[in-house]
Amino acid sequence: MKNGVNNYLHKAYVVCVILLSVACVGCGNDQKGHDQSEMNKRITTTDESIVRTGAIDLQMIDLNKDGKVYQDPMDWNVISDVAGKCPLCKMELQEVTLQEAKDNLIENDFEVKNN
Ligand SMILES: [Zn+2]
Repeated sequence: MKNGVNNYLHKAYVVCVILLSVACVGCGNDQKGHDQSEMNKRITTTDESIVRTGAIDLQMIDLNKDGKVYQDPMDWNVISDVAGKCPLCKMELQEVTLQEAKDNLIENDFEVKNN
């Protein structure tokens, strides 16, 4: 039994699959971040580098690994491992645990890295 309609549908299907796979080639490699710029060894209290942007990595901020960091209660994304003042509003940073810092950030819609 000849079945021209099915044959046509099959061809159309193959064309669709090819078009879809071509369209998807461009949407791959977006996974690689660039965290290397955060690797600042020197942290000074007036340094703008304690103003965190993007996904905040608290483990990396806690350089001495005591489980505590200093966080600005006005600008939650201003976090340092040493005491000091916020470079933005000049407020004294408060000592908080990593968990507290994380909770504060999440509550205020900042992005925190899972660690
Ligand atoms: Zn501030």
